[in-house]
Amino acid sequence: MLPSTEEITAARPKARANIEAGRLPSTDVACERRTDSGHRSYCINCGEVIKRDEIWFRLLGTVKNSPALGAPPVEPELHAACYAAWRAEVVAATATRVGLRLLPAPDDPPINSPEFQRTLGEFTDTLSSTGITFQQRSAVFDSATADGYHLAEYALQVSRVAIPTLGAVLIAWIRSRARRSVTVKLADIFITARTAEEVGDLLQSIEESRRSERDP
Ligand SMILES: [Zn+2]
Repeated sequence: MLPSTEEITAARPKARANIEAGRLPSTDVACERRTDSGHRSYCINCGEVIKRDEIWFRLLGTVKNSPALGAPPVEPELHAACYAAWRAEVVAATATRVGLRLLPAPDDPPINSPEFQRTLGEFTDTLSSTGITFQQRSAVFDSATADGYHLAEYALQVSRVAIPTLGAVLIAWIRSRARRSVTVKLADIFITARTAEEVGDLLQSIEESRRSERDP
């Protein structure tokens, strides 16, 4: 059974503490998803027993010395919820905040038109399917009669692993109609991309910004 959002959220403070203490890796690593009983019975994150019929994960290549003197080095093993919590912490810590604005083509319908809102909804759905964490801005009115509408603006949390996926989504937008483009705000710099090549440069800037945030 897959862990619930509540279980994952509850396991995150421990995961953060374990990352800080060096018991769990601070960057994304390869893992193995298992359902057999070949684990060492205790989860490194919460210290609880991993039950026989449970899904569990082993982090590969991240060798951790067992406290017992002379014991062979081991790779951390985690409950599914503890694994998801660890991963969520790693992604949050390594994500770069990016402001994204989709620029319509000159012949696109107005942003608050039903047609454009539908197009925007499709883009939002695609973005959701990538697993990137984001918020979309909306124009809301005080008047009880006027409906708000979505703006073509997003605040994204882009991790290293999500950069290529984001690129594919942006290129799809640019190509969906002639003269559509995107603007990205990185720190205080705005970068506009009109072509796939320019999206490539833009992704490079995100990657550089991500690196400088981590190693200033
Ligand atoms: Zn656990």
